[in-house]
Amino acid sequence: MFIAINEYDEIWEKINGLIKLEKDSSYTLDFNERIITTGKSYAYLKIAEGCSNNCTYCAIPYIQGKYVSRKMEDILEEAKILADKGIKELIIIAQDTGRYGEDLYGKPKLTELLNELCKINGFKWIRFLYTYPETITDELIETVKTQDKICKYFDIPIQHISNKVLKRMNRKSDKESIEKTIEKIRQKIPNVILRTTLIVGFPGETKEQFEELYEFVEKTKFDKLGVFMYSKEDGTPASKLPDQVHYMTKKSRRDKIMNLQKEISKENLEKNIGKTYEVLLESTSFDSKYYVGRTYMDVPEEDGVIFIKKTKEIEIGSFVKCKVTDIRDYDMIGEIIVK
Ligand code: SF4
Repeated sequence: MFIAINEYDEIWEKINGLIKLEKDSSYTLDFNERIITTGKSYAYLKIAEGCSNNCTYCAIPYIQGKYVSRKMEDILEEAKILADKGIKELIIIAQDTGRYGEDLYGKPKLTELLNELCKINGFKWIRFLYTYPETITDELIETVKTQDKICKYFDIPIQHISNKVLKRMNRKSDKESIEKTIEKIRQKIPNVILRTTLIVGFPGETKEQFEELYEFVEKTKFDKLGVFMYSKEDGTPASKLPDQVHYMTKKSRRDKIMNLQKEISKENLEKNIGKTYEVLLESTSFDSKYYVGRTYMDVPEEDGVIFIKKTKEIEIGSFVKCKVTDIRDYDMIGEIIVK
């Protein structure tokens, strides 16, 4: 039996039909009673399945199907359950969060959804990831700026900056619109953190196109950045493109950008020394001498952490105020100033 990703609601019916359970079986599946595997402090909340963007290198649209938004009331109901369970940080995800609602309501509704989520008691931080540049509207920027609960953090996977490469990737944004969006966000929200992901070695990527990307990274100084080497996904249009880039060239291009970003990250982090931030404590170090936490500037599992000298017992999952005293390549060191 096969069940599509967006057919959760029908799972019970289908299983029931298959194994012919008694009609009067009183057992029901409640998908809102989900198991949280990310610990006590944060949880992901998926607002849509699938993707309709059809980037030429990506197999997700073939595997998961078209973009299907969840109903807003269902998302809000699940969010309330998470808040009642004590989750402090809600992380909104989808393959492209900015397109939320387009299929269901005829227009994007991410901004409205975020405003509704902010009304739920319990969450201290709400953030959304994977927002493509062309979906970032003035209203969305304004909501991030004005809603206290929303982390001033934009995750904008641009993948490349050369217009020729973007076109071959079938990306919807071009260099000019990406630059404009970044400039607008930084101008409206001065303390914003910008994250992006890039692909190097896409078929046909020339030395000049790679250099254009390198210079863009050097100039833009993203706070967080991930670089992937292009890898062929069976059945995708890009896998059939000519001029596939040699593995060693891809690796060298990735390493060049990662080395550059290491310096940029250090430079960006150094600006935090002496500043005070709210930190969500998530664990302790292996030797139990430090708490390990995050500020609004870091996404779990992707970005850095802050290590805080353990001077007293504080419950994991609490927020504390910390002063940044030092940095490492991607992490910070701090001390608690107020419980
Ligand atoms: S890369 Fe992202 S936006 Fe593009 S098709 Fe894949 S999932 Fe969709």
